[in-house]
Amino acid sequence: MTSDGLVDITILGAGPTGLAAAYYAGHRDATVRIVESLEQLGGQVAATYPEKHVYDVAGHPKIQGQALVDLCAEQGLQYGAEVILGEEAKTLDRVSQNGEELLSLTTDKGGPYLSRALIVTAGHGAFEPRKLGVEDIDAWEGKGLHYFVRQKDVFKGKACVIVGGGDSALDWTLGLQDTARSPIALVHRRDKFRALESSVNEARELESEGRVRIMTPCEVRDVHGDGSIAGVSIENTKTGEVEEVDCEALITLLGFHSHLGAIADWGIELEGKRQLKVDPTSMETNLPRVYAAGDVAGYPGKITLITIGMGEAAIAANNAIANIRGEKIQPKYSTD
Ligand SMILES: Cc1cc2nc3c(=O)[nH]c(=O)nc-3n(C[C@H](O)[C@H](O)[C@H](O)COP(=O)(O)OP(=O)(O)OC[C@H]3O[C@@H](n4cnc5c(N)ncnc54)[C@H](O)[C@@H]3O)c2cc1C
Repeated sequence: MTSDGLVDITILGAGPTGLAAAYYAGHRDATVRIVESLEQLGGQVAATYPEKHVYDVAGHPKIQGQALVDLCAEQGLQYGAEVILGEEAKTLDRVSQNGEELLSLTTDKGGPYLSRALIVTAGHGAFEPRKLGVEDIDAWEGKGLHYFVRQKDVFKGKACVIVGGGDSALDWTLGLQDTARSPIALVHRRDKFRALESSVNEARELESEGRVRIMTPCEVRDVHGDGSIAGVSIENTKTGEVEEVDCEALITLLGFHSHLGAIADWGIELEGKRQLKVDPTSMETNLPRVYAAGDVAGYPGKITLITIGMGEAAIAANNAIANIRGEKIQPKYSTD
């Protein structure tokens, strides 16, 4: 990095694709900065399924999500990329410096971050969990309200109420059986769950053993406690009955809002509503030296998988470097 903070490549988003792009850029001796809106690396994998196993990433027959992204980070950051966490990208401009046209990125908290090229690896956009419709719910954040299960140990011996009807809610009702206090309450506003039938059946079996309490069609109406959550009021929306349930950990797994946000206003042509259109042979968008890879990059026939994002990261990084240096695109093997 130069004294004015100029790097060759800014990577926007630190999911598996962004970390792979950092590796491929660093391997070609490019200077790199990664900007990520969450306070952690690992994108969707770390945020939504850190303790689940992934079976389809090349070279890893079976690996836990968090372990996979830890390895991606070790590999991607080995050349010393600068990592900026907790900042959401807002504006992208072109500025001229010493006769060179540079990209200038600002975030909600900082910048301008200057670079010669940008690789957008923003997945589905900056994440925000869907929240319960309970007044002042945000006030319980850090006091027993959880939007993710990152480490099971946090829930050890605790009275847990899980809210949601999808796979995450069912997976964690089953996945916390060896950790949380029994029974785990599972609250869903409909009688029918969206989750895999086999998971729902397993939860019903556990219910017959007293290890799960399925509460449907129910909604959390109130949260109470002194400093931290101690209980919740749950209404059965069919009967109108309200029950007070012990709760030390309220885990709401209602999915995420994610939207491209400001990125959609940078003049990049879109593919559908949620992806940036790229030329898949270079991963360049319609804006010169602005590339995209991973879930955020779109072209006909695109498949959104970790492996695909990693391959696209290699294409984007190598093309960005060739473009910056005015060289022909060619691979460089990593073997030594
Ligand atoms: C439950 C589940 C299970 C899955 N299982 C598999 C599987 O088994 N195999 C598989 O291959 N794939 C699986 N996937 C899909 C896989 O997780 C994604 O394809 C992969 O995470 C995409 O990686 P990415 O780096 O492109 O994007 P992401 O992982 O989404 O990372 C993008 C990052 O960019 C950040 N970001 C976005 N906008 C901004 C902004 N404006 N400013 C700063 N930062 C920003 C986000 O916060 C995020 O951290 C699964 C997905 C889910 C939800």
